[in-house]
Amino acid sequence: MANPLLNANDRDSGFEQQIRPSRLQDFIGQKKIISNLEVFIKAARNRGDALDHVILSGPPGLGKTTLAHIIAEEMGVQIKPTTGPVLEKPGDLAGMLTNLEKGDVLFIDEIHRLNPIVEEYLYSAMEDFKLDIVIDSGPSARSVQIDLMPFTLIGATTRKGLLTSPLRARFGIDLRLDYYDTELLQHIAVRSAGILGLNITDEGAYELAKRSRGTPRIVNRLLRRTRDFAEVDGKSKIDDKIADKALNALDVDPRGLDEMDIRILNSIIENYKGGPVGLGTLAVAVGEDKGTIEEVYEPFLIQEGFLQRTPKGRITTQKAFEYLGISLPGRNDLF
Ligand code: ATP
Repeated sequence: MANPLLNANDRDSGFEQQIRPSRLQDFIGQKKIISNLEVFIKAARNRGDALDHVILSGPPGLGKTTLAHIIAEEMGVQIKPTTGPVLEKPGDLAGMLTNLEKGDVLFIDEIHRLNPIVEEYLYSAMEDFKLDIVIDSGPSARSVQIDLMPFTLIGATTRKGLLTSPLRARFGIDLRLDYYDTELLQHIAVRSAGILGLNITDEGAYELAKRSRGTPRIVNRLLRRTRDFAEVDGKSKIDDKIADKALNALDVDPRGLDEMDIRILNSIIENYKGGPVGLGTLAVAVGEDKGTIEEVYEPFLIQEGFLQRTPKGRITTQKAFEYLGISLPGRNDLF
């Protein structure tokens, strides 16, 4: 099964453009974030200022890119998107910054992957809207200061812990997105189906929602795949039966766990008798980066009650044993 979390192919399609909410009022869930943003945006607009810099963090597919576009739309400004790894040299950053008009948004996805040298240039740009660039090298090297238009930097990251403290400190608005509950995802599925002109029942949307790992991007992808099954089967609407058939055919787990989630749980259970096991050891055992496990996979497994973090390491819960249909004699003392 392909990893549905780290795959952003959906973005390339017109589908993505069609269903992406473009205003705050269309953004489903994350209530607190949305109501705070409404206040910050309104206040900045009333003052005629650029919005303060924003850092958006949280697991993939929860709507960070969507929110960055919404913020620009609500502020009535342009958004210039880029990603951390693309800004290889200070000149790349200077090129982006000098092209911004007053109040524009510079959106840097994967901001934790910025080259540290580029990051240093960002500090004065964010703080004073000035860029100090060194021209030439050796004895003729000199520093030139470029004035920038006031702008808003929006950084998005799945790995906020990797941001340096000077960079983190320069964001005035810090927003963390959480997984969505099934009802919200159901709502998102119904909304997307409406935009695509698909007939979906509440039960059909619920079936997709509960198998989407708390993630809007996944519910939208499952909707698209289920549409294929419904069309081929000559069904005019997506109900829970066709959704179940499609999701089973796609090997989508009944609770939305993906291949890596299962691998993590299986590894702790089979190799370490349910734990405790340290993060580093677990990372080697499943072949995934430590930080990615910590910030992408664990939060969902903990939220779903399959995993616990303890001072001695990670342990799987009774629920994980039951879910995977594994019984382990002598393991009961841990619960
Ligand atoms: P990544 O971290 O991988 O860049 P992301 O957090 O930026 O992911 P988006 O690309 O913004 O995620 O969103 C993924 C998909 O989910 C998009 O199709 C978007 O339209 C949809 N989506 C996200 N959040 C919501 C929401 N709250 N309401 C409706 N649709 C949403």
